Amino acid sequence: MADAPKSPDCVLCGCCLEGCPLLSATGREELSPRAKALLAGPSKFMDASLPEADVAALTGLCLACGRCEKLCPQGVQVPALMAAMRASHPDFKQWMWKQWITRLGPYWSLAAKGAALTPDAFVPASLGLALKGLKGLRPGGGLRPWLGITKFPREAFGAKYGQRPVVLFDGCVGKGPRGVWAETARFLLNGLGAKVVEGRFSCCGSTLGVAGLPGDQAHARVANIAAWREAGRPLVVTYCATCRKGLADYVGCGLFADGDEERLWRDSLAPLSALLMGAGAKAGRGAPTVAGYHRPCHADLNDGLGDADCKLLSSLLGARLRTPAKGGCCGFGGILQLSAPELSATVGRGCWDVLDATLGFSAAPEVTPAYVLTGCSGCVMQLSATAPQGARVGHWLEVIGRS
Ligand code: SF4
Ligand code: SF4
Repeated sequence: MADAPKSPDCVLCGCCLEGCPLLSATGREELSPRAKALLAGPSKFMDASLPEADVAALTGLCLACGRCEKLCPQGVQVPALMAAMRASHPDFKQWMWKQWITRLGPYWSLAAKGAALTPDAFVPASLGLALKGLKGLRPGGGLRPWLGITKFPREAFGAKYGQRPVVLFDGCVGKGPRGVWAETARFLLNGLGAKVVEGRFSCCGSTLGVAGLPGDQAHARVANIAAWREAGRPLVVTYCATCRKGLADYVGCGLFADGDEERLWRDSLAPLSALLMGAGAKAGRGAPTVAGYHRPCHADLNDGLGDADCKLLSSLLGARLRTPAKGGCCGFGGILQLSAPELSATVGRGCWDVLDATLGFSAAPEVTPAYVLTGCSGCVMQLSATAPQGARVGHWLEVIGRS
């Protein structure tokens, strides 16, 4: 049984409520972060323990989006509490998730092709959303390139990093079905004049931790730190918001040799988009009149960079890019796609409503077809799975040409 994380006590203030996508999509207070903190944390307001069956049900119902922690004045970490509860109440879906992430990674491309060929009528309802997301990642799918980089900020990059080696953290999707992300990311790093070295990284581990598999998460973390050391402790460049969060979360877990190495790791994590600030670009054939931006929940880690993808795309695309003032969560939530697909889909539909309010694609699809860019593997999968008819979704790397 996993130890529950040391968490401050919830004081029931309700500051977290407005941020919770599950609560706003369903209006169900029992799904709110306050209810979860109350039931799973060390609350002085509760002394009765919850029946096991209810605990097991509750543990599956959280997106681990982290929006509540950002709003909590007490520092209550609801996603960590839920992960610990999942670890204490393992079930078949966790087992499936573990096989998927730790054993089937090399076969994701095949699985994505298979999903694309499987008629919806043959797919069990409980797997429908996950398979649709996988279909959205099929090799050869995705967006066509239409944006050429006309200028790379080589001087700024060289002034900041000199000859420091750079390694790309490709993540499970970039290493598998969407290899085009990794290829384009390497093209961009070469354009910056970066000295790219290879690193033998595995999954960042975040999705395993969220699923309640702390042992597997720890294994992935230790292996990745070893790969970083082996590569000479280079700059680690990411292009998935959730991978970057997963890697940033290594800090404070007692995984490093000493404080200096831990600080070096923290300062070595860099989103690709931040390195490209100052680049110039030109839109070519196939460019949409308007492109929406979906902001991943993990886009801003409060490290002073803000949402670097949004900043880069705004500078490259100008008025062509439209970003909802208040972005919605896509509803991916890792294991939530399996444990409560209908809930995950409901949150996803709400996210598309927010995008529609900004882009207006349902009112005039022939003028502004739904076209959405984002910067997270999970968001690409979920937005693909919940997209309205005719909508196009992809990682921003897909639209960049490599010539
Ligand atoms: S992590 Fe997200 S889904 Fe889970 S309780 Fe917090 S805000 Fe709600
Ligand atoms: S989790 Fe934090 S923000 Fe939410 S009700 Fe409890 S103390 Fe307040």
